[in-house]
Amino acid sequence: MKIVIAGGTGDLARRMLLPALYFLDADGLLPADLGVVGLSRQALDRDGFVRLAREAVEARAEGGLDAAVWSRFAARLDYLAADLARPEGAGALKVRLGGVETIFYLAVSPTLFDAICETLRGARLSEAPNRVVLEKPIGRDLVSSGQINAAVARAFHEDRTYRIDHYLGKETVQNLIALRFANVLFEPLWTSQSVDHVQITVAESEGVGDRWPYYDDFGALRDMLQNHMLQLLCLVAMEPPASLDPDSVRNEKVKTLRSLRPISRGDVSHLTVRGQYRGYAQECGRPTDTETYVALCTYVDNWRWAGVPFFLRTGKRLGSKTTQIVIRFKPVPHSIFSGAARADLMANSLVIDLQPEEDIQLTVMNKTPGLDREGFRLSPLPLSLSLSRAFGGGRRRIAYERLLLDVIANNSTLFVRRDEVEASWAWIDGIRAAWAHAGQGCKPYEPGSWGPSAAYNLIAQFGRSWNE
Ligand code: NAP
Repeated sequence: MKIVIAGGTGDLARRMLLPALYFLDADGLLPADLGVVGLSRQALDRDGFVRLAREAVEARAEGGLDAAVWSRFAARLDYLAADLARPEGAGALKVRLGGVETIFYLAVSPTLFDAICETLRGARLSEAPNRVVLEKPIGRDLVSSGQINAAVARAFHEDRTYRIDHYLGKETVQNLIALRFANVLFEPLWTSQSVDHVQITVAESEGVGDRWPYYDDFGALRDMLQNHMLQLLCLVAMEPPASLDPDSVRNEKVKTLRSLRPISRGDVSHLTVRGQYRGYAQECGRPTDTETYVALCTYVDNWRWAGVPFFLRTGKRLGSKTTQIVIRFKPVPHSIFSGAARADLMANSLVIDLQPEEDIQLTVMNKTPGLDREGFRLSPLPLSLSLSRAFGGGRRRIAYERLLLDVIANNSTLFVRRDEVEASWAWIDGIRAAWAHAGQGCKPYEPGSWGPSAAYNLIAQFGRSWNE
């Protein structure tokens, strides 16, 4: 079997894919016969690519390279200088592959997906069992994502199309599935009867920097919310699938996406906030109204979640790099505590941290130890379900490791199906249309802050506050 990394000299390949493959090899998880072919238009020979790969892996391997693993991994590497958007490129690749089962990882601009899938089809490289892996963004709205998906579908059957959302490769995200469906404790509480609201925050401390030409065309809503955040929301809100097979899980995610309440023109100004950090337009070198921050409130209109607000926020140049899901439960229906203890009483929360550390904490109320003239005092204590503490602080895996392993094993459960992409774009397009109709501009915010003050007002109007 071979993996062809189209874009093998690019940023994604160097920072993520080559190190992830090396680490899988180090753990003995790669098939013995797996070859890795780097491909780009750059005139490079095999030795040059091996050097590039070595530098890339060294930059990620904290304890340095293991000589034996490196020589095994290096022996897998090959390089082809070719333009895969042209039939000659696909022809040269076909000769190099020699009929072996192949995974095509398209680590190139999505504007090339159409042309590359067409040349692969023309060279009959897209036939089973070969498969294709696509990176986000799959389009910039429902229409363009439909065009890309249709072009890919002309070459590769949906069962052999792997759309990556690397958040789904994170250990804690998969642990959310275990937490919900491998325990009897949570599922009965996982409804509007016990859950007060849900918060999902994806905060980045860095700004846009050199990526502004791409980012300015997309903005926070399309760059983060359409994919990563809606995927997290799906895993929190979906109904229990019948099994972990790809279609069972993805059917439930699609149902959730289709249950998202559209944000109407009339509601958009009080249910959403657009923000832009000060200095962003200077980074772009031109005036721009692209949002670098978005906060919103939505509802999953189904039996389970009726009336439960879901608050989502994401932005750049915020206070810290944090990705967090908070399930805030309802307060106890009646307090038997009086005096100070009554005021101490807080609702339980399940806090799932994905960044900077991966951790899951359930806060439960306890009696504060000791004596107090007023009697009982209460304080919240976190029950930590930290995987690293429980299972030893081994190396934190790159999310791509899990996903590459699944592509090799032909398991698409953690990949995004075409109808999921399109359902999420349909919802996102509705918000953009409402913004355009309402002329809703960006509120400025200070770099290092937690976004515009309007985002605090947004959640405050529901009588809740952000978990900070
Ligand atoms: P990049 O650094 O610009 O790399 C693009 C690669 O594609 C280069 O190796 C380039 O080499 C090659 N390439 C361009 N045209 C080609 C052609 N016609 N045939 C063969 N190879 C070609 O881009 P990137 O940041 O790695 O991003 C790649 C993809 O991943 C994009 O879809 C991006 O949106 C997505 N992504 C990236 C990241 C990330 O962290 N970088 C994160 C999420 C998603 P030559 O110019 O020499 O051909």
